Amino acid sequence: IFTILNSYILVINLKYENNLDSEFYVDTISNSQKFGNEMHELMAKLFPICRSITGDGVRKSLSILKNHIDLEIIEVKSGTQVFDWTIPKEWNITDAYIKNSKGEKIVDFQKSNLHVLNYSIPINNKMNLDKLKSHLFTNPNQPDLIPYLTTYYNEKWGFCLSHNQFLKLKEDEYEVFIDSTLEIGSLTYGEYFKKGKLDDEIVITCYICHPSMCNDNLSGTVIATFLAKILSNIETRYSYRFLFIPETIGAITWLSKNESKLKNIKHGLVITCAGDSGNLTYKKSRKGDHEIDKAVQNVLKNSSSDYNIEDFFPSGSDERQFCSPAFDLPFGSLMRTRYGKFSEYHTSADNLNFVKAEFLADTFSKYIEVFLVLENNLKFKNLNPKCEPQLGKRGLYRLIGGQKDNDAGIDELALFWVLNQSDGKNSLLDISNKSNLSFIKIKNSADVLLKANLLEMIN
Ligand code: ZN
Repeated sequence: IFTILNSYILVINLKYENNLDSEFYVDTISNSQKFGNEMHELMAKLFPICRSITGDGVRKSLSILKNHIDLEIIEVKSGTQVFDWTIPKEWNITDAYIKNSKGEKIVDFQKSNLHVLNYSIPINNKMNLDKLKSHLFTNPNQPDLIPYLTTYYNEKWGFCLSHNQFLKLKEDEYEVFIDSTLEIGSLTYGEYFKKGKLDDEIVITCYICHPSMCNDNLSGTVIATFLAKILSNIETRYSYRFLFIPETIGAITWLSKNESKLKNIKHGLVITCAGDSGNLTYKKSRKGDHEIDKAVQNVLKNSSSDYNIEDFFPSGSDERQFCSPAFDLPFGSLMRTRYGKFSEYHTSADNLNFVKAEFLADTFSKYIEVFLVLENNLKFKNLNPKCEPQLGKRGLYRLIGGQKDNDAGIDELALFWVLNQSDGKNSLLDISNKSNLSFIKIKNSADVLLKANLLEMIN
């Protein structure tokens, strides 16, 4: 009997270790720099690939992610109607350049894929400077950088280059070559689903349509991949869905194909611009007071760093689609410096040096902490609500009056908060917010009280 009991205890212990629990969180945080380095390595592999909203660049990128997670790849045919939009023709490109009359490549796609106006139709022609200029795009405000520009729903061709290079161009006969195709094909996206105990889902989205840029948004792609990877090893209460989609058209496509699944979505976050050195920023959901909004703000408030909170606004990333009025899903966006607020945004300066492993690691750990809150945000009822229970006789209170912490290292103030507020109505997140004590402290206190039979779980 002793052996059977022992192995039973062992099974319980193993199960505990594999749950998304405080211990798992602490382990993950202590390893976060290692994850940060691995995420940066993955980013370096993805960086050179020319991605767009469709095409082989997306397929190649997703196949690299498949080395880390069991990603399902979905293809949706060009011409498919998705709500008010139509899946466009598929775009692919192998090479592009501008040569001067001496045969020198003065603009070369092989050096930076940002040089081509993304979705350019093919061209193979000779022309003078004047004609060429109407197809050249620069940003005079950042004269050293190549801007990132697209022409998805308007069939034309063009090149992007630094304004300084543009100013040096002389009258000449230029050879212009873009080896691209724009044909009936499909839109490609990736989806990873992990079943939890509940059908209720947490959805994490990122976009995989930007060519060689890191913060916007390879940072989102690698963090989402590593979150999915680490969650695949543990038991969770919620089910988790990770979407690797082209921005806007991909979100619209996914929503139009999955309307029946939307009732399961309880929380959603869009990961973007997540690896720069700036403070964390949380953009609230459309309603602004969902559990996800409270959970993220609680995590940021209890971190030791400054952060920004922004109300919802209807421009930005894919929260625009998830928070459109017919769906109005509880979707926020947790990022670092918001798109458009850093000068490297949508330029060749958003590169592998701009994004650092330590900031990827920090954002990653904040997402894990948000998951920890959501997974453990339960309600309890105090089973001894007539005055305070006598904690001392249960070993939960300091034995010598005046001693600061008790022997078990339990935060007594957190115990009092949990006991007082556990009337079946307040969740642990509510108690953390009221008490200004971290969620983990409150959760650990609830665990101790539950073991001492002083609490009962409500939901
Ligand atoms: Zn962007």
